[in-house]
Amino acid sequence: MISMNLSEIAEATGGKIVQGNPGRDYSNLVIDSRNAKPGDIFVAIVGENNDGHDFIFEALSNGAELIIASRSINPEAGESILQVKDTTRALQDLASYHRGLMEDVTVIGVTGSAGKTTTRDILYNVLGEDFRAYKSPENYNNEYGLPLTLLGLNGDEDVIVLEMGARNLGDIELLAEIARPHMGIITNIGAAHLENFGSLEKVTRAKSELLENMAGSGTGILNYDDENIRQVSGKFDDISMISYSLEDDNADYYADDVEVYPSGKKSEFKVREKSTGDRKRMVMNRSGKHNVYNALSAVAAARKLNMDWGSIQKGLLNIEVTELRQEIREFRGATIINDAYNANPLSMRAALDYLTSLEGDRNIAVLGTMLELGGFERVAHLDLGEYIEELDLDMLITLDRTARTIAEGAKKSGMDREKIYTFQDKENISVFLEDMIKPGDNILVKGSRRLKMEKIVELLLEQG
Ligand code: ATP
Ligand code: MG
Repeated sequence: MISMNLSEIAEATGGKIVQGNPGRDYSNLVIDSRNAKPGDIFVAIVGENNDGHDFIFEALSNGAELIIASRSINPEAGESILQVKDTTRALQDLASYHRGLMEDVTVIGVTGSAGKTTTRDILYNVLGEDFRAYKSPENYNNEYGLPLTLLGLNGDEDVIVLEMGARNLGDIELLAEIARPHMGIITNIGAAHLENFGSLEKVTRAKSELLENMAGSGTGILNYDDENIRQVSGKFDDISMISYSLEDDNADYYADDVEVYPSGKKSEFKVREKSTGDRKRMVMNRSGKHNVYNALSAVAAARKLNMDWGSIQKGLLNIEVTELRQEIREFRGATIINDAYNANPLSMRAALDYLTSLEGDRNIAVLGTMLELGGFERVAHLDLGEYIEELDLDMLITLDRTARTIAEGAKKSGMDREKIYTFQDKENISVFLEDMIKPGDNILVKGSRRLKMEKIVELLLEQG
């Protein structure tokens, strides 16, 4: 964090200094009392499950020296206290103020229904070749994570890549207002968090909030192979649009000759830049067609920042993605794709396409429920089953009752019943897998976060 004094902090948040020296500087902020270190600011966030006000004492004993609270608190000894109306809002206002201290930084926002973290990671590695780059950590993409990311900057960064997630209309608007991005990438628009949104049309509106809230005349970087995104793109005439595509050779960045290597650790594509006519073969250390999309958006952003092709190529070979996204593991000669971080209808299809693009003897999917689909839950699982039948998998294994609907959909569409197994717990799946896995098998493990599907992989790998 760029250091700020108490008086600035009070002004930025509209808070009242209850106790403390206004000229005192602070240079680190936490919202989790366990992470507080001597001299830190602790913001007492009132969350759904926890109230940060209950942890003020812990923060103080860890050394926090400024408490931002919305309830009146009894001063302990020498700490400073800032009283605000709403501590979450104060965190966001402070992040917004902090963003304003970084005049020369380029901010890139990444949103979409699937692939945000992966795209963010790829872009960060590419930009890192030429710039002092920074990215949101872990999955920091919401009303807390994004402000914390901004407040984690030192002010010496050239470019920052921020993941922006949405569960409701207005979420991205808020994040973009705080971050004021110069560029906005939309990876795709699909059925994610439909429980809250209610319709795909609303998901589309939510994602376009990024383009509505850019810093000055921004640049939208858009996947033109996504119908919903194409529709959005025509609606903005005050920002410039850069399109990328694997299907339309009229796009600003068009890739063809895509090759996904069977080892699962590499892919190649040829990208054509419309403005210069350049055609370059790119190799990256990630696999799958969906990652070619992710890489293509990163290429577009990097070129906008005038990076040369050589540096971009170097970055694409050094991608490090956040864990549980398509991690490749070997088990007794079989390849396990641990993609257990999360799942929705779009990312399930991408991961299944990836599975079937690999070389090997048998393709096996171990799937858990896709959560947060509300009234669309049943039909989304049935549809996925139908999709799986078309892919001609060798085996489908599901966990728990809702995911059983995937099996139901696959059966209805004609998948051989002997290839379908439904389970109620992860231990049994791992025992079953251990028994039947053969060298040359490819096994995808995926489900929504709450299911912790990675446990199946862990149990299996323990067997060695
Ligand atoms: P979340 O909303 O949980 O933060 P996210 O948008 O950050 O998700 P990632 O974590 O990058 O998404 O990727 C999750 C999974 O989505 C990947 O492991 C992969 O299966 C799939 N995926 C990644 N990129 C794409 C893409 N461009 N299109 C479709 N699916 C993708
Ligand atoms: Mg993410």
